[in-house]
Amino acid sequence: MQQTQGVIGRWRRRYISGPVLRRIRALLPPISDTEREALEAGGLWWDAQLLSGKPDWAQLLSSGPPRLSDQEQAFLDGPVMQLCSLIDDWDLTVEQRAVPQPIWDFLRQQRFFGMIIPEEFGGLGFSAAAHSAVVMRLSTRSISVAVTVMVPNSLGPGELLLHHGTPEQKDYYLPRLADGREIPCFALTSPQAGSDAASMTDRGIVCYGEHKGEQVLGMRVSWAKRYITLGPVATLMGLAFKLYDPDHLLGDVESIGITVALVPTDTPGINIGERHYPALQAFLNGPNEGQDVFMPMDWVLGGQACVGQGWKMLMSALAAGRSISLPSLSVGAGKLAARTTGAYARIRYQFGLPVGRFEGVQEALGRMASSLYLIDAARLATTQALDQGKVPAVVSAILKVQATARMREIINDAMDIHGGKAICDGPLNYLGNVYRAIPVAITVEGANILTRSLIVFGQGAVRCHPYLLDEMEAAAEPDAAAAVAAFDPLLLRHAGFAAMTLLRSVFHGATFGYFAAVPLDAAELSLHYRRLSRFSAALTWVTEVSLLTLGGNLKRREMLSGRLGDVLGELFLLSCALKRFEDDGRARDDRVLLDTCMQRGLVRIEQSLHEVIDNFPSRPVSWLLRLSVFPLGRWASGPSDALTCACAERLLTPGPVRDRLTLGVYPGNPGEGVDLVEQAFVQVVATEPQRARLHSAGIESIDAALEQKLITVEEAEALRSADKAIAEAVAVDRFAEL
Ligand SMILES: Cc1cc2nc3c(=O)[nH]c(=O)nc-3n(C[C@H](O)[C@H](O)[C@H](O)COP(=O)(O)OP(=O)(O)OC[C@H]3O[C@@H](n4cnc5c(N)ncnc54)[C@H](O)[C@@H]3O)c2cc1C
Repeated sequence: MQQTQGVIGRWRRRYISGPVLRRIRALLPPISDTEREALEAGGLWWDAQLLSGKPDWAQLLSSGPPRLSDQEQAFLDGPVMQLCSLIDDWDLTVEQRAVPQPIWDFLRQQRFFGMIIPEEFGGLGFSAAAHSAVVMRLSTRSISVAVTVMVPNSLGPGELLLHHGTPEQKDYYLPRLADGREIPCFALTSPQAGSDAASMTDRGIVCYGEHKGEQVLGMRVSWAKRYITLGPVATLMGLAFKLYDPDHLLGDVESIGITVALVPTDTPGINIGERHYPALQAFLNGPNEGQDVFMPMDWVLGGQACVGQGWKMLMSALAAGRSISLPSLSVGAGKLAARTTGAYARIRYQFGLPVGRFEGVQEALGRMASSLYLIDAARLATTQALDQGKVPAVVSAILKVQATARMREIINDAMDIHGGKAICDGPLNYLGNVYRAIPVAITVEGANILTRSLIVFGQGAVRCHPYLLDEMEAAAEPDAAAAVAAFDPLLLRHAGFAAMTLLRSVFHGATFGYFAAVPLDAAELSLHYRRLSRFSAALTWVTEVSLLTLGGNLKRREMLSGRLGDVLGELFLLSCALKRFEDDGRARDDRVLLDTCMQRGLVRIEQSLHEVIDNFPSRPVSWLLRLSVFPLGRWASGPSDALTCACAERLLTPGPVRDRLTLGVYPGNPGEGVDLVEQAFVQVVATEPQRARLHSAGIESIDAALEQKLITVEEAEALRSADKAIAEAVAVDRFAEL
């Protein structure tokens, strides 16, 4: 028996595994070091389940609802609220064009810059969930202050120091960063190297030089960076550059690679302080340069042993930071927009009705409510995963792209519904500045077009695949016999996996997912779980076929890759929406939001898969895919108009759903725009029965209604007060001159 297996094995290696390996070698372009390091950074999470074709829902749901500690909640209710009350976004954005000193002082005193720094180093030691909640709330008040807080708590370089710093670097810098004695920035981007940051021309040469009166081994570094947030005021810069060792002072290798150094910005030779003016925002951002600046080796993050490891460090730190900063900012901006727009649409009367009663406006409001529910669900689930020790690299890219893109849609809808009220700028306008800041969120931490079309699916497909990375490693093995020996068992298992994904896709496609995996107690949510499981199977099968037929070319077929990334992103967001609905105890009133997300998402998934299949370069493969993914055609039709109106109603009506959906919004100081709209909203809703009475009697004047005893004196007073509140809320700023 063993002999037969041995013969079969030899035959298989010679006639199947060997030739397949040769084809794979021809298909796969060589992976660069930076690509490999990006692929190896961070880990997997729910993305791997979605690309397995049979997601294990228990894994996602078992964590239960995310919770903040008492201390974290107290910080949100105390210092964060206090900070919000101190901020005047119009003043700092337009008048001062900078975050004013008292705000900086408060940020330092309350250790806002040390949220991720452990308490033992003097920081707040907050969870990712709390960190996100703080950034989210600040973003409902001032994008500039939120960004100012975001950077030190992300790459710049607190996160990097925590994970890669030497004990001496941590002991020295972390307490100083936590209490704001040091203001950090992270300098990666150069004029010639934006999205392709690894192509930077900033260079360091290993050499001896003088430091504190002694000759020490170090690096002479020259660079020109731009777009660096907090750069103009930073005292400590995390600087990325390529290190070379032409004199072999460190060893045999000449081109050492990207290295990160911790550089005090008062070092002679550094030019820092000029400002860019991004999207008219007040947070500090600017260029900086250095020419032949000597740095001792112990400035290298992690010490001399870590030279050349900068890219790996950056990629792993990005996976955490990117999951928090911009998604939280996006949700915050979305919440502010949704809360104020729902209120405004209820108090703004045109053609004798609140504009929110017109279907055209309801369509936009419904979109806003469901998109907000979705991105907030993804934010909550992802920060919880971070707190459980996961570092989900692909999910961080998905979340960044999806949250910022949907935030843009939400803000656009909010602007349209507000009309001139959000266009005319001034202290009363609470949306204009958020609108201006949108491109910042879209562009930073991986510009969206690139991240969507190259990173999400490109990395997701490779990293989440159970065999592909090992196969690529086998293919890279220089010894042919050893390569085939390593590859052969992988190929067998891979073939089994591919066959199962095909079967699943066809079977679930033909039965509309009726038999697909659902959690044990899915009950009334079964249909939603089944559909997501079905499309997870379909995506996994399309991924298999794409990898097999396009191989490395997939990288160049960005339109295909982008759409497949959209399917993965949509599946991820919808899974999180289901988790959120479960975590909230299946709140009945939220059901319309969940259903709308699902129905809109399924349309997008079907459309993206359809476009991938339609544009597949090989016609026979395209036919095969159509048959195996949509054996009975496409069926998703999107939410009904009634469902969309029901979602809109959630924003138009005061109550627990609106409050849950917009939890965390700073309510505005008394007399400010956000507060005026909310106060008018409350009064308008409270007096609606009286107004309806006037309307059905055909009377416009409150005095006339009072005379005819249609309303009481108190009711007349309430109506007058509501009218006054409306007038104040819809008012826009006027300037004698500008
Ligand atoms: C306000 C602001 C703050 C910033 N803060 C920092 C900071 O603190 N530190 C720091 O180091 N950097 C920072 N950046 C830099 C930021 O990360 C870069 O702007 C970003 O990486 C994009 O680079 P770029 O603007 O040069 O665009 P480019 O790289 O020129 O890209 C232009 C467009 O082409 C697209 N594109 C590029 N390559 C591809 C591709 N292969 N496939 C598809 N599309 C592609 C991009 O998506 C983008 O839409 C900041 C930028 C801004 C504007």
